Amino acid sequence: MLENLGNRFQDIMKKVRGHGKLSESNIKEALREVRMSLLEADVNYKVVKEFVAKIQEKAIGAEVLTGINPGQQFIKIVNDELVELLGGTNSRLTKSAKNPTVVMLAGLQGAGKTTFAGKLAKYLKKQGEKPYLIGADIYRPAAMKQLEVLAQQVGVDVYFELGSNDAVGICERGLEKAKEAGATYLIIDTAGRLHIDEKLMEELKEVKKVVRPQEILLVVDAMIGQDAVNLAQSFNNALSIDGVVLTKFDGDTRGGAALSVKSVVGKPIKFVGTGEKIDDLELFHPERLASRILG
Ligand code: GDP
Repeated sequence: MLENLGNRFQDIMKKVRGHGKLSESNIKEALREVRMSLLEADVNYKVVKEFVAKIQEKAIGAEVLTGINPGQQFIKIVNDELVELLGGTNSRLTKSAKNPTVVMLAGLQGAGKTTFAGKLAKYLKKQGEKPYLIGADIYRPAAMKQLEVLAQQVGVDVYFELGSNDAVGICERGLEKAKEAGATYLIIDTAGRLHIDEKLMEELKEVKKVVRPQEILLVVDAMIGQDAVNLAQSFNNALSIDGVVLTKFDGDTRGGAALSVKSVVGKPIKFVGTGEKIDDLELFHPERLASRILG
């Protein structure tokens, strides 16, 4: 994930460290390269512009130019800005005072919602929670079956109604079952489509009204690059999401989405999917990713 960007950044920082003293033109040169690398990694143009401007403003201050270890100081500034760009601190899942905490998943078809539902159930179970799954993807019957298999694998309960076309009803009845079962988390897998359309959004809004989720997580395929950010923006406008899950972060992705989501959409990335297996899930840690990028 983000290997290319990491390699580019590490080269730039090596060059910066190589200068005994840093002149204003050394910094400008390094920032030109930072800018190019970010654009190549598919980071949103405006985000790149602001990011570089902020670093320039801080770095052209006297300390970096005259300090004892100018290269190190420059790298620290880049690191701090990168962490900020990625969302600052890690954003955890909410836990509601009253059980179950309802987590509603949304996203396009193929983004990895069903897979993530299973991964999240396993993650929460490991934390000592009692997750419960609902399969409400009424357009892809295979999704309900897929969720059933995942639930068995994790060892949690699942509710779905094969053949039903009433997503809202499934959620209502599933919520009751989850309460009866004493679930602490309820994870709802909803339908996706190939493109955003009115009908999908209306259905998601209806589900939201009925289950009143504490968390709406938008599941997005990181491989779609810039589109991931536009998609998150549209879902956020329609549904007011609480966070983003970037899947397929293991792929040969340019990864710019990870660096653009927070500043464009204003919502944090909470998890990243790093493979097809049930354990391939990581909490999103801005600091860790920044240090991985900077080497
Ligand atoms: P849904 O339509 O949104 O429910 O998508 P699925 O959960 O069925 O996932 C679509 C495809 O993406 C499946 O082949 C999954 O195995 C795959 N997939 C999901 N998450 C990841 C991930 O984090 N990494 C990789 N490499 N593949 C993933």
